[in-house]
Amino acid sequence: MAVVQQILFFITLVVAFFFIWKRVARIKSNIQLGKQTPLTGETSQRWRNVLLIAFGQKKMFKKIIPAFLHFWIYAGFLIINLEVLEFILDGLLGTHRLFAPPLGGLYPILMNFFEFLAVAVLISCVIFLFRRNILRIKRFWSAEMTSWPRLDGNLILIIEVTLMLAILTMNASDQLLQSRDEHYAQTGRLFFSSFLMPLFDGLSTSALIALERFTWWFHIIGILGFALYVTYSKHLHIFLAFPNTYFSKLEPMGHINNMPVVTTEVKSMLGLATSETPTEAPGRFGAKDVNDLSRVNLMAAYACTECGRCTAECPANLTGKKLSPRKIMMDTRDRMEEVGKSIASGGPGLQDGKSLLGDYITKEEINACTSCNACVEACPVLINPLEIILEMRRYVAMEESGSPAQWNVMFQNIETNFAPWKFPSSDRFNWADELKSKS
Ligand code: SF4
Ligand code: SF4
Repeated sequence: MAVVQQILFFITLVVAFFFIWKRVARIKSNIQLGKQTPLTGETSQRWRNVLLIAFGQKKMFKKIIPAFLHFWIYAGFLIINLEVLEFILDGLLGTHRLFAPPLGGLYPILMNFFEFLAVAVLISCVIFLFRRNILRIKRFWSAEMTSWPRLDGNLILIIEVTLMLAILTMNASDQLLQSRDEHYAQTGRLFFSSFLMPLFDGLSTSALIALERFTWWFHIIGILGFALYVTYSKHLHIFLAFPNTYFSKLEPMGHINNMPVVTTEVKSMLGLATSETPTEAPGRFGAKDVNDLSRVNLMAAYACTECGRCTAECPANLTGKKLSPRKIMMDTRDRMEEVGKSIASGGPGLQDGKSLLGDYITKEEINACTSCNACVEACPVLINPLEIILEMRRYVAMEESGSPAQWNVMFQNIETNFAPWKFPSSDRFNWADELKSKS
C-alpha cells in the first residue's frame, strides 16, 4: 500500500511540475514579446527596493489594517511552505513525519509555530473575504473588476482557508492516532489543532487513518494545484513582485524616458552638438501593441495584484473619467495572453488584426491621464502604469497625429516656436520692453 502511495505521489509531482513548467515557459515567452531596455542606476538601490518593498512590504503599510492581515498571509505562505518539504520527502520515501525523530524537541515547537501561522492565515483570509463580499470595498467592485477578477480574488482566499483547515484536521487526527498507536511519530501537543480533536475522537482507528491520509493528500495536491493556479491568476505577484521591484524605474517619478532618436533630432534642430548617432532605425514611435512596450512593462502586468490602490488615487478616475490605471495593467496582461496563446497554437500572433491600443485601451482613457504619478506612488510593488499610457500617447501623437486638436496646436507651436505658445521665440522677451520704457 505504501509503495502504491509512493508511486501515485511521484506521478502527481511529475504531472504538476510539468504543467507548472509549461505555464512558466509561456509567461516567459509572453514577456519576451516586449523590447529589451537597458538598466540604469545603481544595483545596490535595486536590491534595497527588493528587500524593503517586495520582501519588507514597506509600501503596503500605508494602509495598516490590510497590511497587517496581508502580512500574515505572506508570512504563512513563506514559512508554512517549509513544511511542504517534509510532505514531499514523506511522499517520495514512503515515510511519515520524516523530520520528527531527527529534530526531537524542536519539531513540536516548529509544528506549533506553523499551526499559529495557519490560524493567522485562516483568520486573515476570512476577514479579506468579508471585506470584499460583505463590506464591498469600492475598489474591488469598480468597472474592470468583472466576474473573473472578482472570482479569482475570492477563489484564492477560499483555497487558502481550505488548505489551512486541512493542515489543522490532519494534525488533530494524527495526534489522536499517536495516542492510540505508539508507531506514530510523537509530535507532542499541537495547541491549535488539539481543539479539533474532540470532533474526531469518536472515530475508529481505521477511519482516523483515512482522515489523516485524506487531509495529507488534500493538502499536498492543494499546494501543487495552487502553484499551477497562481500562474493563471493575479496571484502571480507572490513571485513576480520581487523581480518587478528590482527592475522598476529608479529615476525620480516625474522623469519621462526620452527617445534617443528624437533627442538627437531635436538637438540638431536647435543647433546643439550631439555625439549620439542612432545605431538602428527608430521603428515605431511609442506603443500600439504589447511588442512596443518594454519587457519590464510586460512583467509588471503579470506582477499586478489588481489591488486597485492606483485607481483609488487616480484623479482622472476619481473625477469620473474612463481611465483606471489598474485596467491599463490588466488589459496589457490580457492582450499579452491573447497573443501568446495565438502564437503557441500556430495562429497569427501579433498580426491578428487587433492591438492593445484600440481593442483593449481606448484613446479616451489614455488622454484622460494627467501624468500626475499618483498611481505610481500608490502601487505597493512599484508598478508604473503611467509609462504604458505615455508610450501609447506617443504613438497616437507621433504616428497617427491623432491627439486632441488642442494638443496638436501645442505640438505645432513647440515644433515651430520651441515653446507651447503661438509666439515666435524672438518675441519671448517682449514683455520686458514695457519695463525698459518705464525705467
Ligand atoms: S498618472 Fe495618470 S493614470 Fe496615474 S494617477 Fe495620475 S492621472 Fe491617473
Ligand atoms: S498597478 Fe499596483 S496599485 Fe495598481 S492594481 Fe496593480 S498592484 Fe495594485
